Amino acid sequence: MSDVLSRLQKLVIASGNSGKVAEFRDYFNHLDITLIPKPDDIDVEETGLTFIANAHLKASQVAIATNEWAIADDSGLEIDALDGAPGVLSARYAETDQARIDRVLQELGDTPHRQSRYVCAIAIASPDGEIFADAIGTCEGAIALKPVGTGGFGYDPIFFVTELQQTFGEVSLEVKAKISHRAKALLLLQSKLKNLLPLFT
Ligand code: IMP
Repeated sequence: MSDVLSRLQKLVIASGNSGKVAEFRDYFNHLDITLIPKPDDIDVEETGLTFIANAHLKASQVAIATNEWAIADDSGLEIDALDGAPGVLSARYAETDQARIDRVLQELGDTPHRQSRYVCAIAIASPDGEIFADAIGTCEGAIALKPVGTGGFGYDPIFFVTELQQTFGEVSLEVKAKISHRAKALLLLQSKLKNLLPLFT
């Protein structure tokens, strides 16, 4: 296995979401690894009931289909007052980002109970589809009463980050990259990989 690992120079990002791909590129830019987006014709059905199950599924199936190392994340927004919805259905909660935001705001109404969190599960699979490492990260916040800012993607304009006292729609990629759920999951993943891969520093 260590022989295979020492040759890890290329990682396929098992996501078609351009916002996520941009964030992955940003996190990995200090490493000597070429990140390539997955081919458009590979589509993995997210049938898992948890973020980690879907991350495993996507990493594994894209690795097998491309015969390359693959990294996948499954992420979403959990809102306490909606019993954890939209959760693993975050991407499918409505047709567009705007419609998804509208649905969340409408479902919450003016309730003061707006506690929520972004969750991100990440997995890396070797070319034979075996899960090599995984990690989960979370970022706590609250759902704003209306969208603020135009940055980020998805639910970012309504996700008010407790630590920043701003929505993710208002902050730069650099700021988000320090504290987001994806950043935390990647940091944990990298510390797990560091013991195995000298190039992960
Ligand atoms: P996935 O591609 O199935 O993991 O879908 C994740 C969905 O959760 C995205 O399409 C967004 O709607 C939402 N999401 C996950 N992470 C973020 C984020 O960092 N900002 C905004 N929305 C996010």
